[in-house]
Amino acid sequence: MARLVMKFGGTSVADIDRIRNVARHVKREINAGHEVAVVVSAMAGTTDQLVAWCEAALKSRRIFDAREYDAVVATGEQVTAGLLAIMLQDMDIDARSWLGWQLPILTSNAHASARILDVNGAELTHRMSERKEVAVIAGFQGLHRETGRITTLGRGGSDTSAVAVAAAIRADRCDIYTDVDGVYTSDPRVVPRARRLDKIAFEEMLEFASLGAKVMQVRSVELGMVHNVRIFVRSSFDRPEDFDRNGTPPGTLICSEEEILEQHVVTGIAFSRDEAQISIRQVQDKPGVAAAIFIPLAEANINVDMIVQNVSADGKTTDVTFTVPAADYQRSLEVIAKARSAIGYARLDGAVDVAKVSVIGIGMRSHAGVAAQAFRALAERAVNIRAITTSEIKFSLLIDAAFTELAVRTLHSFYGLDQTTQ
Ligand code: ADP
Ligand code: ASP
Ligand code: MG
Repeated sequence: MARLVMKFGGTSVADIDRIRNVARHVKREINAGHEVAVVVSAMAGTTDQLVAWCEAALKSRRIFDAREYDAVVATGEQVTAGLLAIMLQDMDIDARSWLGWQLPILTSNAHASARILDVNGAELTHRMSERKEVAVIAGFQGLHRETGRITTLGRGGSDTSAVAVAAAIRADRCDIYTDVDGVYTSDPRVVPRARRLDKIAFEEMLEFASLGAKVMQVRSVELGMVHNVRIFVRSSFDRPEDFDRNGTPPGTLICSEEEILEQHVVTGIAFSRDEAQISIRQVQDKPGVAAAIFIPLAEANINVDMIVQNVSADGKTTDVTFTVPAADYQRSLEVIAKARSAIGYARLDGAVDVAKVSVIGIGMRSHAGVAAQAFRALAERAVNIRAITTSEIKFSLLIDAAFTELAVRTLHSFYGLDQTTQ
């Protein structure tokens, strides 16, 4: 007998038929003698709709009250949690739905991107072992105890709910059921020749997720790494019965590095189109200027990512280029323009039609020249590189957005990641 958390994403609970398929997956694990807690997302598209309604509701103010945004967007998961509990009961499985505030799942006060602080695992384990009851937990939401308000965890946050529940009940595994049968060497929607990875280390998955692979929310991987939760990514579209007969389903295990025997230099390619580039021209080359640029941006809660600064040729001025999330582009320009006298620059340029392509692999730690080779491969395809950043296990390139797919596929082939049989 094992203790499992089963998480089902939006496409997996998109309609009644799919939720029934989910219920059958749960039944399969119960029949196999396992203890199960389930975490569900809202039906596909529901959260987007709820966010759009919040935006449409606003007329004169620029930003809405994040507490009310959370009150609205948390509702999607309530529907699917209740429906799945009804269907499980209909299959004679004892099941109960739980909202974030009911369990509770306690979070910080950072509405719309709250952090989980504590999950009432004792209540879940008690009901699971004493009553054989299946908890169906609404993902993506929690409670800020001091204010009594509902919070949400940021888009894609049900993954984080699931891993936090798994850590709280000391689950043997956290199964993430989604619309792909695992983590691939790149997004299979963009790279048809991408290969499924049998295993991936937490650290690599963390880079993958933070550099754009949305298959897992970044914080869920962080939590998994800290609490050493084994996470298995698999497809919810498989028929539950097939695995009763065939044994192990296809999927990807996210686990500690020591468990991975086969090491590649490059594990995968991630990309993000959600970037904007800002270049400040002829900035004074003197101490304190970087602080004059980046402190106001930090104070405005803008996440700066790649930063490139040239060494001045004349000792007087230089150019500084950096990237910010595309959604913060206008705001960033305003912040820099406001700080113009403190920074002292000649011109402000920017572009939103850029993308960041990243190559990830733990093997880079011990191999030199991995990035250098890629530059030629991209040059042969006439892909111009605007900026480059590197770290221990990845490097990222900023390019024109129009070249994203070409660059991702070129790098995927170049590093030998393509599937050989189709
Ligand atoms: P869910 O609704 O189940 O949470 P998501 O849409 O959040 O699912 O995540 C699954 C999607 O992530 C896939 O459909 C796929 O297009 C995308 N994806 C991006 N990069 C990868 C990757 N490297 N491997 C697998 N899927 C990826
Ligand atoms: N429903 C939320 C979203 O769409 C959370 C999730 O699906 O993980 O972002
Ligand atoms: Mg998701």
